[in-house]
Amino acid sequence: MLAPPVRCLLDTPGLILWLTGAGVSAESGIPTFRGKEGYWQVGSRNYQPEEMATWAAFQEMPEEVWAWYLYRRGICRGAEPNAAHRALAAAERRRGERFLLVTQNVDGLHLRAGNTLDRTYQIHGNIDFMRCSRECLPAPVPMPEGVDVAWGKGRPITERELQALKCPSCGALARPHVLWFDESYDEANFRFESSIDAAQRASLVVVVGTTGATSLPMHIGTIAAQRGIPMVVINPEPNPFSALVQRTGQGAFLCGTAGQWVPEIVDALPSA
Ligand code: NAD
Repeated sequence: MLAPPVRCLLDTPGLILWLTGAGVSAESGIPTFRGKEGYWQVGSRNYQPEEMATWAAFQEMPEEVWAWYLYRRGICRGAEPNAAHRALAAAERRRGERFLLVTQNVDGLHLRAGNTLDRTYQIHGNIDFMRCSRECLPAPVPMPEGVDVAWGKGRPITERELQALKCPSCGALARPHVLWFDESYDEANFRFESSIDAAQRASLVVVVGTTGATSLPMHIGTIAAQRGIPMVVINPEPNPFSALVQRTGQGAFLCGTAGQWVPEIVDALPSA
């Protein structure tokens, strides 16, 4: 049950900025990166996500990187939005412009649950889209027909699929529309400046299911702490965001899962 001081934090007429990570999709069956399922085998070697999800790996072994993404895309497409995703869609319907969602998830589940692209910044991209590896396209394009959605682990990519994964404009190999660990945020693809602007305007930040291992999410947490606005942190274990709350004394750490806390918080939001 939400304690009265947490209910008070929710009673704001201003913008509520929600920041979600892989933990919000864990209850839909999509593994987080830090789980034991995280690695990918190439030949006799196991690669960690931090090695596979890089421009360097794509240059060195593009077919393996694509096979990893197509396998992960299969998991995402086979998953359904859970109670936390549905609650966040309800929160947007109720609060309109006073709702904003910044998500690190590439699985598209927030959009499938009903959040709109206008109010959902996918700061690490979307696994159902690709873009030209030479950046000649003005915007990402949906994954083409002819690439299997159900993808068995260890299955190699076929020549026909490689042909389908070409840039429709210049014919170069396309790349997954995701932000890799050795790349930088930008506004055009990842809404970087818009996310910072939202952190500077928000009156409450709610952080759900992320370790804070990437820079923009931590930047948002730091801006909230510097502005002295409260942060509500939902996670099964303490993380750098709960440490910020402890240091500033502004906000609350709700230890538990997204499915346990997000619907309850959304229910407690004042609707007007
Ligand atoms: P992460 O895997 O580093 O951390 C996940 C966090 O979620 C942990 O703090 C964990 O304690 C917490 N968690 C686990 N189960 C939870 C639950 N049921 N409810 C709430 N929290 C739970 O993920 P991250 O911090 O989001 O960042 C890693 C990167 O991985 C991001 O760049 C993201 O794009 C990518 N990623 C995305 C997906 C996805 O799209 N679903 C999945 C894996 C990784």
